[in-house]
Amino acid sequence: MLVVENLVKTFGELRAVDNLSMDIDEKSITLIIGPNGSGKTTLLNCISGFLKPNKGKVFYKKIDITGLPQHSIAQKGIVKTHQIPTPFRTLTVLENLLVSYPYNKGENILLAPFKGAWVDDEKEAFSKATEVMELLKLEDLRDQPAWDLSGGQLKLLEIGRALMNDAECLLLDEPVGSVNPVLAHDMLSHIIELRKDLGTTFLIVEHRLDLTIKYMDYVYAMDGGKIICEGKPEEVTSDERVIDSYLGDYFA
Ligand code: ADP
Ligand code: MG
Repeated sequence: MLVVENLVKTFGELRAVDNLSMDIDEKSITLIIGPNGSGKTTLLNCISGFLKPNKGKVFYKKIDITGLPQHSIAQKGIVKTHQIPTPFRTLTVLENLLVSYPYNKGENILLAPFKGAWVDDEKEAFSKATEVMELLKLEDLRDQPAWDLSGGQLKLLEIGRALMNDAECLLLDEPVGSVNPVLAHDMLSHIIELRKDLGTTFLIVEHRLDLTIKYMDYVYAMDGGKIICEGKPEEVTSDERVIDSYLGDYFA
């Protein structure tokens, strides 16, 4: 579904992503691990269109999306959530979801005065937001302003906003990074549910290997901008190179 071919992204002399290739199956949950600075965020940014790669290709459902602007890539269904969630802090959970809905004609200044032109969009947005809140178990927080949410709830809201955009393939950068283990398992269970209910594909960068690994179908380990190992979770965590470059420090 998502294919990366020989991708290169440099910052000056530094090859942050260095001739990297990967192949992500539809409806799979894939983990990318690797030490700090190994290029994980840069890779996600190149896929989502936030950065333009210097070389290589990204294909989504066999369409070349390399270097397209972020909004065109989002329209095709690939959305990256941020390492630090960025909702509108004074808006409620519901309002944050509603403003993420991309099809409201009322936002067009020429149509805004004519309620008939957008009232159906507004209803559609509301029913979609209700569905998303149900999926993510955010209903009880519906009228809570975003500034009042916990770190884990903010991350769920961030996923909710991506779902309002009809994301089919979510790129998550450290979704359980700063979250306590109980919430982290909650969050990962939501991801499993979303894959089951909506058929969403997930590409997840995460440091917290201990918490995440059991939810994954496939794992890529990165170091120095390259894939050093890939396979099923148990294959990757028992690989010498991964233990040397990453797990050694991790379990020390
Ligand atoms: P990770 O997410 O694995 O921690 P990053 O992709 O953030 O790694 O960074 C990979 C390397 O690229 C690091 O050495 C980092 O300092 C460098 N880097 C990332 N973004 C930039 C940037 N905008 N300008 C210059 N160097 C960057
Ligand atoms: Mg990062």
